[in-house]
Amino acid sequence: MIPVTKPFLPPKEEYNKYLDGIWQRNCLTNNGPLVNELELKLKEYLKVDHLLYLTNGTIAIQIAIKALDLKSEIITTPFSYVATSSSIVWEGCKPVFVDIDNNTLNIDPDKIEAAITANTTAILATHVYGNPCNIDALNTIALKHNLKIIYDAAHAFGTLYNGKSVFECGDISTTSFHSTKLFHTIEGGAVITKSPELLKRMAYMRNFGHDGPDKFTEVGINGKNSEFHAAMGLVNLSHIESIRSARKAQSDYYDRVLKNLEFKKPVITRGATFNYAYYAVVLPTEDITLRMIEELNRNLIYPRRYFYPSLDELPYVKKVELPIARSICKRVLCLPLYHTLTFEEIDFVARHMLRVQNN
Ligand SMILES: *Cc1c(COP(=O)(O)O)cnc(C)c1O
Repeated sequence: MIPVTKPFLPPKEEYNKYLDGIWQRNCLTNNGPLVNELELKLKEYLKVDHLLYLTNGTIAIQIAIKALDLKSEIITTPFSYVATSSSIVWEGCKPVFVDIDNNTLNIDPDKIEAAITANTTAILATHVYGNPCNIDALNTIALKHNLKIIYDAAHAFGTLYNGKSVFECGDISTTSFHSTKLFHTIEGGAVITKSPELLKRMAYMRNFGHDGPDKFTEVGINGKNSEFHAAMGLVNLSHIESIRSARKAQSDYYDRVLKNLEFKKPVITRGATFNYAYYAVVLPTEDITLRMIEELNRNLIYPRRYFYPSLDELPYVKKVELPIARSICKRVLCLPLYHTLTFEEIDFVARHMLRVQNN
């Protein structure tokens, strides 16, 4: 069986070493020493000023929306994971979808201004597959219309934009350390901001609003993560270079063996480095996409329609006319990509895809 992804698991002894410390200290959560150490190491590795380690990437988006006091309409992308849209609705705001760019698959800045109303408070955009949005254009629009920007950077671990961490763009960036992501802590996530005030506010928010044992600053939630999750993160961080370089080699190999396949890959944004978090292909038609899925599944290969469907088709939002997102969602596949995937397996995947095309 070749799944779309397999979580990275480090050598067990490396994790066990951290467990001994947890048992000695008898501290399991509530910003313990391993959570602090992980935050420090992540800030150092990612070269960001402030980062708060959280339960998951969805809570991260919700805390970001709360911390910025966003109300009413938030402009967002239809081409992302469901958590991007559902978090907006969960926080009592309304997602306003703007179509994506056909090449980068990120929100199209040229279409944003037409969607801005007197009720618009922010833009929530996703760096799809780790490929940065058109950050300069979004900044210009946000400045002109006095909007906040949140980036859902769940895919963008380690991505640089003009030499700096893409996590430092926007008012707040959120990310996910879920098991299926490039870097994971089993479950986990983070918010990153350059603003000390927002950092402080989000730090209170993740801990129920506690300011000492019996004083509360404002309404909060439980967004804390545990020592066990932080331990997995500390171990995995020491393997991140080898995880990334394996994925680069696999992606280059896919490029080679798929050179006779008719498809398009997302175009990497100028000024960005790519982190090889996903290998996405956009096929010519939905029909050929579905036939490829069928043929691959018959051979126990499981690519994923990621993202599908277009988020404006969720039952709790308003449907809009978004021709590019609708079309891409129907034709996109993420191919298997994980650290132990072999070149033989990639050959096998490619062979079956080519067989469908050439039949
Ligand atoms: C994974 C993901 C999320 C959600 O993160 P969790 O940690 O699973 O809650 C949100 N947005 C995008 C784009 C994602 O890929």
